[in-house]
Amino acid sequence: MRRVTASPAETEALAAALAARLGPGDVVAVSGELGAGKTTFVRGAAHALGVAGPVSSPTFTIGHRYEAPVPVAHLDLYRIAGLDPEEWGDLEPYFDGTIAFVEWPEHGGDWLPRARARVTLEHVDESHRSVSIDSDLGL
Ligand code: ADP
Ligand code: MG
Repeated sequence: MRRVTASPAETEALAAALAARLGPGDVVAVSGELGAGKTTFVRGAAHALGVAGPVSSPTFTIGHRYEAPVPVAHLDLYRIAGLDPEEWGDLEPYFDGTIAFVEWPEHGGDWLPRARARVTLEHVDESHRSVSIDSDLGL
């Protein structure tokens, strides 16, 4: 499905609708250029999944893991140039029993678990974003 959102809140609401269909072990790949709304999307999903408090981009670490009824992981692979087995070993725990959202999934190469949903965000104008979701979840 593809929808154009008119505000960050609308992007978060769309993310919440997807989140309601996810379960432990699911991975969501979130693609799009800088400022497209990837972190905004993950924030909406994480809060819908019961994460309390701020959800911000993992800038100085590769990932965050939040406690919630099903723990939520948020990874940003922007600075990853290509994983080696040792680096994958550091990342693997983020996927263990969590619902995991990965920004810049294309930087993870073949190491990442298969995504349950692929989300692509694109700029339309200052306040509008095109949000495409490719999944077998009916959304
Ligand atoms: P990314 O993680 O892709 O770099 P962010 O989510 O951090 O992007 O930032 C997106 C920026 O775009 C935020 O400043 C947000 O307020 C703004 N924005 C404006 N309109 C939208 C929209 N419709 N959906 C999501 N973000 C939007
Ligand atoms: Mg981001």
